[in-house]
Amino acid sequence: MADQSSTYVVVGTGLAAISSIEGIREHDHNGSILLIGAEPDLPYDRPPLSKQLWSGGEVIEEIFLHDRAFYSQEGVDLRLGTEVVALDPAASTLRDAHGTTYQYEKLLLATGGAPRRLRIPGGDLQGLSYFRTLGDYRRLRHDATRGKSALVVGGGFIGSEIAAALCINGVGVNMIFPGQYLVSRVFPESLGRALTEHYRNKGINVMDGDVPTSIQRDGEKYRTRTRSGREILSDLIVVGIGITPNIALAASAGLETGNGVVVNEYLQTSNPDIYAAGDIAFFPEHILGPRRIEHWDNALNQGKHVGRNMAAADDALQPFTYIPFYFSDLFEFGYEAVGDTDPRHEVFADWQEENKTGVIYYLDGGRVRGAMMCNVWGQVDAARALIHEAQSVVAESLRGAIH
Ligand code: NAP
Repeated sequence: MADQSSTYVVVGTGLAAISSIEGIREHDHNGSILLIGAEPDLPYDRPPLSKQLWSGGEVIEEIFLHDRAFYSQEGVDLRLGTEVVALDPAASTLRDAHGTTYQYEKLLLATGGAPRRLRIPGGDLQGLSYFRTLGDYRRLRHDATRGKSALVVGGGFIGSEIAAALCINGVGVNMIFPGQYLVSRVFPESLGRALTEHYRNKGINVMDGDVPTSIQRDGEKYRTRTRSGREILSDLIVVGIGITPNIALAASAGLETGNGVVVNEYLQTSNPDIYAAGDIAFFPEHILGPRRIEHWDNALNQGKHVGRNMAAADDALQPFTYIPFYFSDLFEFGYEAVGDTDPRHEVFADWQEENKTGVIYYLDGGRVRGAMMCNVWGQVDAARALIHEAQSVVAESLRGAIH
């Protein structure tokens, strides 16, 4: 007999988890909902941690997804700071780190991801910021005072956003990453190189094509040695070299895993009473092919959708067919992007170089797979419509299609 029994149990307190409450309550106003997550903070929105909280656009009090009253009004039991360590699908139970057991009828795994660690000497030194959570933001904000110096490791989403955030707050910034230019997993080369130049013009010391090989303490500072023989002294080190989906709970329970927790079009895992959503869900995207998406809008919409399915009758499950977008702010340059923005696709830029404005299309076999709207706003639906088009197009014909 479990210590507590709920209709719905959700593991995780990120955006996918919180959005599932809305989806569940669309169909079921009475079933009990238990949310369990390891983070101690009231559930919050993650994008501001590397954007608006540094630019003055928002303060911490504004980033919480709901106040405490919301959870009691919605009949949600919120267990914060509680790590779930075991899942037994045969008994439909979970166990937390204190030994408390929980019974579920329907379970959602929304366990998110953990920052990848630097596997080099000094990679586990105390004080390094593997930047991901509100706690990480609070620590970095406290330490990153004007005049300090930072080494930002990684040139992807976190690296590019945090480097800009630190720079506009008067911190001297060095960046190091293996690629030839910033955000190379989604930017085509010309844009990536232009942005990298922009960062240099802002005073950031960008060290592309290089990686750290060791980190040591040197008095109050860190001394980082690199593959190409550089030595960098800094007060702070922030690392953003990707995340690993938290699939251990699912894997140890025998659910199908791989690059994430494998789910079907209804977001059900290999056990039909257990669902997964957000960063961990490897789902059969209906147009772009199977994938895992580590972005805010995916968590928001997959979360709502999975909640609806968890509360629906078995013959009323709906497939998840939404194509999420993502966005970023890098100094004066901002963009929204949707679909598969892999620069290894054919890339067509409908672009005005002088004001860095325009739309970049990503095509595969003549079909639009993704689009990035740079300093062009409110056009995500138009881009989505192009991705839905069945016919292939000549890239040049896309000029002016979105503006
Ligand atoms: P990421 O975007 O995958 O970028 C990883 C970066 O680390 C890449 O620049 C990569 O370089 C570099 N790298 C890999 N190994 C390295 C090493 N040993 N030394 C130095 N650099 C190394 O991951 P992230 O920036 O850490 O972001 C984490 C998660 O947060 C992602 O899920 C992301 O989607 C999410 N996020 C999203 C947004 C947004 O949508 N705006 C903003 C912040 C965070 P190469 O590419 O050259 O290999």
